[in-house]
Amino acid sequence: MSRMKTSKISQWWIARRRSIRHRLQRLIFNKFTGLGRYCNCCQKTSRKFKPFGPLPRENAQCPNCDALERHRLSWLYLTQKTDFLDNRPKKMLHIAPMTQLTRLFQSQPHIDYLSADLEHPNAMVKMDITKIEYSDNVFDVIYCSHVLEHVDDDRKAMRELYRVLKPGGWAILQVPFPETTLHIEEPIEDELTFEDPTIISDEERLRHYGQVDHVRRYGSDYQDRLKDAGFIVKADEFVRELNSRTVQRLGLMLTEDIYLCRKQN
Ligand SMILES: [Zn+2]
Repeated sequence: MSRMKTSKISQWWIARRRSIRHRLQRLIFNKFTGLGRYCNCCQKTSRKFKPFGPLPRENAQCPNCDALERHRLSWLYLTQKTDFLDNRPKKMLHIAPMTQLTRLFQSQPHIDYLSADLEHPNAMVKMDITKIEYSDNVFDVIYCSHVLEHVDDDRKAMRELYRVLKPGGWAILQVPFPETTLHIEEPIEDELTFEDPTIISDEERLRHYGQVDHVRRYGSDYQDRLKDAGFIVKADEFVRELNSRTVQRLGLMLTEDIYLCRKQN
């Protein structure tokens, strides 16, 4: 072997060793490397989840895929408590596809997937959910999480989601509550939904609704609004059926119910 060739191999080997050493160091000194937590959205373990939120919640966000508590709970619910993965063809509408769940939904061969949003560039179609440009009874499944609290006429949006759902179809319609992820500065008089169209400044919305782009704070009557739109609603306390080790390992919130909304067959 020529001296030049030997030198090239040795340079390659030095570079390779350096790269392996760097990767190992990154793994050892990464504060998230570990086994204590498990994200069912990306199927990776970590020592802990990242804090997340305006008043950061500990152990909230997966360091690998950015999934939050609600995404991990939704995916667990879809896989364990619904017919989502039964391999029968389903037409699905995903509103505001800003989460790790998009990849999971799209990768199911039996799911005819459509994502929609008014503004998000990743959405497949532009859609105003108070005026959905699809005919009645089109979708088998709708997933709409943390959207309705941003919509001025949420009752109209709920009626539209109901209209485009097929009879026998189901929707998961999640919103934040003070007992889950909303941090409300203003003391809450009662636990019913609060909205006031005169509250329009960022400062006031933050104080009353917990976020500058929210237009209301939902309360215990949330499911009544969904029922008014026609849905048969189950506020499923699924998370409280899980054992404490699963709840802790997946970093779930025990106060988060799943709102499973069906359309009569
Ligand atoms: Zn993850």
